[in-house]
Amino acid sequence: MLDTNSIRSALEAKLRSLVSELQTIAVLNTETDDWEAQPVGAESAEPDSIDGADVVEEWNERHATVAVLEVDYRNVRRALQKIEDGTYGTCEISGKPIEPERLAANPLARTCITHMNNEGDLPL
Ligand SMILES: [Zn+2]
Repeated sequence: MLDTNSIRSALEAKLRSLVSELQTIAVLNTETDDWEAQPVGAESAEPDSIDGADVVEEWNERHATVAVLEVDYRNVRRALQKIEDGTYGTCEISGKPIEPERLAANPLARTCITHMNNEGDLPL
């Protein structure tokens, strides 16, 4: 039997830290539920102090960071939803219970060990 209460607490803490990290560089579009990277320099008092190339580079970096954080954000939210639905710990491909050691290593796992290589094919 999974201790979903402690998993839920850990996931909620993870979600809070992801959101606060995302909020420093992006804004949540509540209509699409997408995080959108904020323009570089928007928070800077002296936008003239950085030149164009730096801005482009930082923008690309910020986009990449937001993309990575957003995947985590969605995975954590999905896992929390699955706890609510009572489907947490069930492989999304075979419907079989996910091995406890796999969940211990990765509480966000969506598949059993047999299907872990197919996890990337699942919709976000
Ligand atoms: Zn499976």
